[in-house]
Amino acid sequence: MHCLWCRWGLRIKPRRLPAAPLSLGRYGTRDIFLVTPPASYRTQAYLEAAIRMGCRTRIISAGEHSLVPEIAGGVQVPLDDTDEAVRIVLADARARNVRAVVGTDDSTVELASRIAAALDLKHNPVAASRAARRKDESRAALAGAGCTVPPFRVLDTSVDLAPQVHKLEYPVVLKPVALSGSRGVIRVDEVAGALAACRRIGAIASKALDPDSRRWILAEQYIEGPEVAVEGLLAAGRLTILAVFDKPDPLVGPYFEETLYVTPSRLPAHLLLAVERELEKACEVFGLREGPVHAEFRLGGGAPWILEVAARTIGGDCARLFQFGTGKALEQLVLANALGEDYCVPDMKKPVGVLMLPTSKAGTLRRVEGVMAARKVAGIEDVVLAVREGYELVPLPEGSSYLGFVFASGDSAAVVEAALREAHAKLNVVVAPAWKAETGTVRAWG
Ligand code: ADP
Repeated sequence: MHCLWCRWGLRIKPRRLPAAPLSLGRYGTRDIFLVTPPASYRTQAYLEAAIRMGCRTRIISAGEHSLVPEIAGGVQVPLDDTDEAVRIVLADARARNVRAVVGTDDSTVELASRIAAALDLKHNPVAASRAARRKDESRAALAGAGCTVPPFRVLDTSVDLAPQVHKLEYPVVLKPVALSGSRGVIRVDEVAGALAACRRIGAIASKALDPDSRRWILAEQYIEGPEVAVEGLLAAGRLTILAVFDKPDPLVGPYFEETLYVTPSRLPAHLLLAVERELEKACEVFGLREGPVHAEFRLGGGAPWILEVAARTIGGDCARLFQFGTGKALEQLVLANALGEDYCVPDMKKPVGVLMLPTSKAGTLRRVEGVMAARKVAGIEDVVLAVREGYELVPLPEGSSYLGFVFASGDSAAVVEAALREAHAKLNVVVAPAWKAETGTVRAWG
């Protein structure tokens, strides 16, 4: 069977998918609409979960091609024109028994809410999905409701930025208002660097965002302190915390590349409780009621500061941690909730962690050495490379793809962290300068 990943820019490996159910079975007539950006890391895991649950999946995306029909059908929609996308999807839905609509990534949760609302299926209010996605709007809503968020200003790139950056109190973190994965997020310590950082963010946003989101840059106080990520699931407005992850590598900037996530958190219980309370409050402020929640907090001055509350699961392939920790896929919980099925939230039976392999150098990936040795480290569950030889690696703040993931489990969070570090030390990422042809010249890139 084809590797759909390379042919169409979809990250789907049919060989990894479980066999589609032969008989339609109890759930056979149910269709799930998966609203997903092209090349999402999340599509594969949701497809696997849907097949396991005996559901049919329809991929709603901007790609030119649908999937091969034995895996899932697809509907091509313009993701940047929500009205038109909703119209196309609703026409397609008429002939089907759609029972759930799930947005896989930040950029598609708002559209998924609109489609689900129109089909009268479980969904977050559209305004809530939007508030969670737009960093400027979410900061304003949370601050207005008394939540602890970094003091912020919104910079307007359509007028002179110089007077605006002079008013900021440094250090600040500058970021686009609607990207994820730390893309375009830059710490600046003094006014001198701020204009250059804004130009850089402007270039990143110009390729990735709609004109409205492109206009604004969020500037917020840099909050010193350790960071945690929280994974939760909302059902009828009630939040269940699935895991709190420590990020043991300090994230101090100027760019914020995620590396280690380890659960259970080693934070004291009172701080964990404060994080949980703050997250519940943030969900209420946004009006989020259903589905996955992924949040990031900084612990500064002994209090949790909300950096992000997104209406989606953890990104990349990291959700596989739940499979290692609980024996159940996170996506199955999300789909069961969206379908209105009964489900129990499984316990994390053991400490688990993931290392997102850093992309420290720009260039063409030649090879990754030491994968076998890394896999043999005690506690390592898997080492997955997300890109292949020849792929152009682009570090943050411009880059948006993961090089790979290392998963581990162990008797304690400390043991898991040590295993991930040992496995990382065995890996050697070989990168060659990328050569880009320009009219009349050839020059090295990176
Ligand atoms: P994204 O949604 O693209 O991941 P975030 O706003 O979550 O962007 O920021 C990415 C990372 O940048 C955070 O996980 C954190 O490490 C760092 N960061 C962002 N804002 C701040 C801040 N105000 N203070 C300290 N660190 C920050």
